[in-house]
Amino acid sequence: MKVRFDRDTCIGMFQCVAEWDAFTEDTDAGKADLEGGEEVEPDVFERAVPADAELDAKFAARVCPVDAIEVYDDDGDQLV
Ligand code: SF4
Repeated sequence: MKVRFDRDTCIGMFQCVAEWDAFTEDTDAGKADLEGGEEVEPDVFERAVPADAELDAKFAARVCPVDAIEVYDDDGDQLV
């Protein structure tokens, strides 16, 4: 499973931070950070989701009010 985070879209509501600790608060920027994320496009970050964090990653994606977080399975199909 993979998570994709569009940091440009993020408006810093920080609901995701409460759901998965891979997301942390950058209060100076008013944005979340995805720990361990690789910048695959300007301000878009991706990383693998460990098996024990799959539920947390899905919840983080679901609670984001601006859909800045997407979750994909290993076949590349979007789950959330
Ligand atoms: S929930 Fe969405 S808008 Fe809020 S900090 Fe997380 S990614 Fe950004």
